Amino acid sequence: MDTKAFKRSLQQSENYHRKGFGHEAEVAGVMQTAYQSSLIQQIRDNNYRLERGAVTIRLAEAFGFCWGVERAVAIAYETRQHFPTERLWITNEIIHNPSVNQHLRDMEVGFIAVENGQKNFSVVDSGDVVILPAFGASVQEMQLLNDKGCKIVDTTCPWVSKVWNTVEKHKKRNYTSIIHGQYKHEETVATSSFADKYLIVLNLQEAEYVSNYILHGGDRDEFLAKFSKAYSAGFDPDVDLESVGIANQTTMLKTETETIGKLFEKTMMRKFGPENLNEHFQSFNTICDATQERQDAMLSLVEEKLDLMLVIGGFNSSNTTHLQEIAIDKTVPSYHIDCAERILPGNRIEHKPLGADLVVTEGWLPEGKIVVGVTSGASTPDKVVEDAIDRILAMKAAVVA
Ligand code: SF4
Repeated sequence: MDTKAFKRSLQQSENYHRKGFGHEAEVAGVMQTAYQSSLIQQIRDNNYRLERGAVTIRLAEAFGFCWGVERAVAIAYETRQHFPTERLWITNEIIHNPSVNQHLRDMEVGFIAVENGQKNFSVVDSGDVVILPAFGASVQEMQLLNDKGCKIVDTTCPWVSKVWNTVEKHKKRNYTSIIHGQYKHEETVATSSFADKYLIVLNLQEAEYVSNYILHGGDRDEFLAKFSKAYSAGFDPDVDLESVGIANQTTMLKTETETIGKLFEKTMMRKFGPENLNEHFQSFNTICDATQERQDAMLSLVEEKLDLMLVIGGFNSSNTTHLQEIAIDKTVPSYHIDCAERILPGNRIEHKPLGADLVVTEGWLPEGKIVVGVTSGASTPDKVVEDAIDRILAMKAAVVA
């Protein structure tokens, strides 16, 4: 399929929208009350620090809602204003945040259900309005909705579109796109749908396996079994790793994406010689600024003397999980929660350790004076961070009293 031509024709269609509808003023109020917080603004103004009684809160200097998410949420709300009576759908959670998604449900925006691993689009009719989330949608989904005669409101973040353009460039040169990401993540599903040949690697370990295969060959069946859900139809590691381009899920750990890019650059240089590198390797910087800033801020925060770190964001949010990884790397005790309600009375917290199920930890706030580092993922509103901080302050105040 000529994905580039399809996107071009879609973008010219009168059923396709990728900007707001001029109702900024109407939605500004909801955005403000639902997502912004005066306490957080106060902490920002005070050098990202708050001292109350025995508690010092240290907020990361970049955290929370990124502009791509804020833009997507605002466009989604404007869509309801613009199409007050039409049936409205969204192909997926607009962002990985429970409170935002609840707001959309309250506005009677339907979520397309997943049944037996497939999205059930049979509920969508011609004339319905369908919102595509911030992390995009696959080209097949766009085509299906377009064929059905739906109005499409595309909130895909421009950073994500930039990765899609990169993949188109790989395709033009007949390169295989090596995508650093999670093969199940919606953004990576969408990105791979624009590629012709692709291979998805989750981490440096997998990238090293592929690099080793390129340099020394190996067991083809083992390779195909190892990446069974992570390559394009008909992919053959003996043929399709001659020329590669690097792409990434925008929310991956930035340092890891960079290391993987360098690894493949070196690999191709060793295999084909530095003078032939351009024929075998292509890489553009497609790490999103917001992800980068949040990770950098976290890296500097964990250098401080913290008693613990609270990481707030959806449990299926990739960028939030990466923030927690940074705390774990520095051996700072860290608690990943998705909403303030996880902080329970009696000094307990229900949280998700990395790669494990939810657990309840008792006595998570140490006695005496404490310094708590706080950060949140790109899809977490400030209001949620405020509520979590309030609960910590109340808990410590109760202990002192
Ligand atoms: S994290 Fe980056 S790529 Fe994702 S929505 Fe935000 S700005 Fe866009």
